[in-house]
Amino acid sequence: MQQPKVLIIYTGGTIGMVNDPTSGTLTAFNFNHLYQQIPEIKRLNVQLETISFEKPVDSSEMNPTYWKQIAQIIFDHYESNNGFVILHGSDTMAYTASALSFMLQGLSKPVILTGSQLPIDEIRTDGRENVLTSIEIASAKNSDGSSKIQEVAIYFENNLFRGNRTTKISANAFEAFSSPNFPPLATAGIHIKYHSNTLIKANNFQLFTELDNRVALLKIFPGFNASVYQSLFDITKIKGIILETFGAGNAPTDRAFDDLIEKYIADGGIVLNITQCNSGSVEQGLYETSSFFQKVGVIGGGDMTTEAAVCKFMYALGNNTNQETVKKVLSQNISGELTN
Ligand code: ASP
Repeated sequence: MQQPKVLIIYTGGTIGMVNDPTSGTLTAFNFNHLYQQIPEIKRLNVQLETISFEKPVDSSEMNPTYWKQIAQIIFDHYESNNGFVILHGSDTMAYTASALSFMLQGLSKPVILTGSQLPIDEIRTDGRENVLTSIEIASAKNSDGSSKIQEVAIYFENNLFRGNRTTKISANAFEAFSSPNFPPLATAGIHIKYHSNTLIKANNFQLFTELDNRVALLKIFPGFNASVYQSLFDITKIKGIILETFGAGNAPTDRAFDDLIEKYIADGGIVLNITQCNSGSVEQGLYETSSFFQKVGVIGGGDMTTEAAVCKFMYALGNNTNQETVKKVLSQNISGELTN
């Protein structure tokens, strides 16, 4: 039987970094370092090809230009590979995974992001297991030859999560990610157990590279002063605003804030309401303190993570100009990011 082919895309992050003895900081190392550190990679029954960012980056540097680069690499190498592993810093991994889930729609092959909390050359590194298992998942097939995973996912510390459902929850723990509103796609123990009832099935692969980052994110807090944020509600500069609200989508009753929102929407702006809770969903109109949002056409973001909401907004604005169409795209489930 032919060996499955997996393309590894190395973007940077702790996993490929080493301690620089002179500066005492972590700096990116040549990608071949990974092969030296995990010689077992060569023992996997997989044909590997690697593409490395010319200058690997800390994931804090990630942005839509890099996302387009990664999506384009996958698109260009799609036919010749069975799966893809993206080595990426953990800090913004959930954003990149979310963005890719909207840019690469209808995948019939796995795109697995992974990284590590400790550099690969540390004795107790979590990187070794994360990389090896990710490659195994990226090459895993069903008995009919189709890929087990047909979507963008994050593998970290024994769990495979849907990429656009994932959020980074710890700066230090090996278990750095969680998927609070959606169960794991697979769990790695002695065997890798795939939870088939959670998996997306392939349909019609398409690449979308247009992203519009004229999006603002505003976290509401008690004592929130609307006038401080007035300049955000300017449709000539900002096309969409995400409100991170309390509980099921609530915010303080504040005439000045309501006026800003109402005028912004009338001017053609789009406002999306997501919860700042770790889990659960926005239900506009459930409480008096969210009924205004419902009345003026703020979109309820359901159970989307902040990461998914930001990236979906960029995707929706990048591919549509009409306010109503963007609103429709935001309300729909596109790549498994939203329960509706
Ligand atoms: N600062 C690093 C990054 O996100 C942390 C990590 O890789 O885990 O690139």
